[in-house]
Amino acid sequence: MYFDEGLTEKFDFSTDIFQPLQVVYVKTILKTVAYPEIYNSHNKTTMWTPTKANIKVVPKDKRTKRDTNLKRKFRTWYIKEYGDPCWGATWPGLQAHHELPLEYGGTNSMSNVFPLTEDLHWNTVSPWWKAY
Ligand SMILES: [Zn+2]
Repeated sequence: MYFDEGLTEKFDFSTDIFQPLQVVYVKTILKTVAYPEIYNSHNKTTMWTPTKANIKVVPKDKRTKRDTNLKRKFRTWYIKEYGDPCWGATWPGLQAHHELPLEYGGTNSMSNVFPLTEDLHWNTVSPWWKAY
């Protein structure tokens, strides 16, 4: 599959916690889709960006199961690892996103989790993966 990536458009989401820096365009024969580059200014990390356009779907029975306590576990781990960002007692409005989705072979490992606002998660990141 033909694959090429470019970028770059300044992007301004209205939140002071997560600051998307630019949009990476992933171009395949079939479509050109922008993957958002999202920056967590507290621990200074950027959400992992898929580097290829043909990651295989893992059959349902072989996938890591969704962990319903993932957000709580991630929050505890994050605070120990990076200090308390003071995003509230339960991080209201934030969700624990699997950088590589379980559907594509991702796991519940803390290193595969990135905190996203509901808005970024549902309106930007999830639609990108739905179109993948
Ligand atoms: Zn997600």
